[in-house]
This record gives sequence, structure tokens and C-alpha cells, in this order.
Amino acid sequence: MRYINIENIELPKDWEERARKICFFDDFDTLSQEERKERIKTIKGLIEKNSNLWSELKPILAKLSYQKCWYCEMTNLGSNNDVDHFRPKKRIIELKEGHDGYWWLAFEWRNYRFSCEHCNRRRNVETEDGSISSGGKWDNFPILDEDNRAFLPSDSLEKEHPLLLDPINPLDVELLWFDDEGKAVPRISVPDQSSIEYRRACVSIELYHLNHPLRIPERKKIYNRIKRLVLRGNRHYKNLVLNWANSDAQENLKDTVIDLKDLIADDAELSATAKAYIFGFRGKDSVD
Ligand SMILES: [Zn+2]
Repeated sequence: MRYINIENIELPKDWEERARKICFFDDFDTLSQEERKERIKTIKGLIEKNSNLWSELKPILAKLSYQKCWYCEMTNLGSNNDVDHFRPKKRIIELKEGHDGYWWLAFEWRNYRFSCEHCNRRRNVETEDGSISSGGKWDNFPILDEDNRAFLPSDSLEKEHPLLLDPINPLDVELLWFDDEGKAVPRISVPDQSSIEYRRACVSIELYHLNHPLRIPERKKIYNRIKRLVLRGNRHYKNLVLNWANSDAQENLKDTVIDLKDLIADDAELSATAKAYIFGFRGKDSVD
């Protein structure tokens, strides 16, 4: 997961105006309980009929991440990508009853995250050893303290502390790390339930299905590639230390550094994973 700066987005000119017309709730606080129920029902019907509005933004959102899913950082060629509503629009799985979902954010573009179907849609996948790996965010939206859950447009979202890591939050993306076998793990390696950061990383790894059986080997490939490059780079560096005028060694070292930089470039798949692996090799004398 990498930080996505959504402030750079370029929306179609009249998009927000069209969205506001469909999902009107400025007078919601003045409505009676019955009227509120009716309004929510109407808006939910409009949500069903107007999904084209957020689909229209899909290429614009994808452009912000060079077509990579904002959660897993893979392009997942051949699979469908979604515009995920970070706060689910129609229901909350954690609260089977009593919550209508964040319907008032259905047409709020800041609630959209570009996501692959592996991260967004719930599914069970059989692994090589025959066990079942489950994941997919779906309509899950766990928060730290249910007492602070927003139910209405007038409720504060600031008070909610989502457990899911959010790619548009630069602090959140730092909470994920990757082990040498290609698995996503919490960056804070303390299995302490009282650590919120640890818990948030665990919840996100599970719900975004970051350890989907297809992903682990891809990360492992990157690990192996970086290990080879670091070994090669160390060799060239040692040759340079012996003779700083050795132009072959200079060129070779430069090429190796360029190869490493390519792996952490903005448009590289799994660049955050590559960054973590390179970080792990820093200062090590050997890479056995
Ligand atoms: Zn994904």
C-alpha cells in the first residue's frame, strides 16, 4: 500500500453538481423519523440506479496510482477493478441491524478507493496445502469504538477510528510490512492486542486479503530479485573500494542502483514491498 494523494484529482467539471442533485439530504435534520426512513429508502434506490456516476471516476482514480489497486498495489491484469466505497454505502457487516450504511457518502468522491476485486469482494480461495484463505473487504467497516460510529450525515466522521488502513492517509500506509517469504505482516512486530497499530494492520491484511495465495509468490519474486541485486551491488562496491578509478565497477554499481530504483518507482507494482525489502538489507554485511 502506498500513499495516494487524492487532492490532485481532476474531476469532470459538473460531476459534483450531478452527484449533489441525486443524493439530496441537506434538510435531513428537519425531517421526522418516518420521513427520514422514507428519504433513506429513496436515496438507496437512487444509489442502485446511479452506480455509473462513481464508475465514471474509475479511470481518474486509477490514474492516481498508475492503474495499481490502492490496497494491494497490484495491477491485476485481466481482473475487474472496482470503485470501492471506503465507508460502505448500504450496510455495515459488523452491525447486522440498525445501520443503513454510509448512504450519504455514496456520491462523495473522497470516499472512493480504486480497488481490485481480490481486495474488495469477499471470497474463499483454496491454497496449495488445501486450506482455505478468506478475504475481501466487501461491506465490512470495523472501527475501534462502536460508541463513536456515525449513523447520520450530521454525525462526526472524525470521531470514528477505522481499523482498516486507508491508502489516502500517509501514516496508515507505514503500518504494513512484508516478511522474506512474501507475506504481508504488521510493521510493529509485537503481538500485543493492546497495540492499535498492530491490530489495524492485522485487520487490514485479512480484510483486503493481502495474503491471497496469488500475491505471496509475487512478493517472494521481488524479494529474491532484490537479494540478487544487493549481492551484485555489494560486489561492485567492494571492487570500487579497492580501486576508485575502476570505471567498470562504477558503471556496474550505477546500473544495479538503477535496477533497485526501478523497483520502488511510483509506477512499479508492489513498490512498497520492494521498499521494505531494500530497507531490510540496509547495513547488512551479508545477505545470506
Ligand atoms: Zn487489490
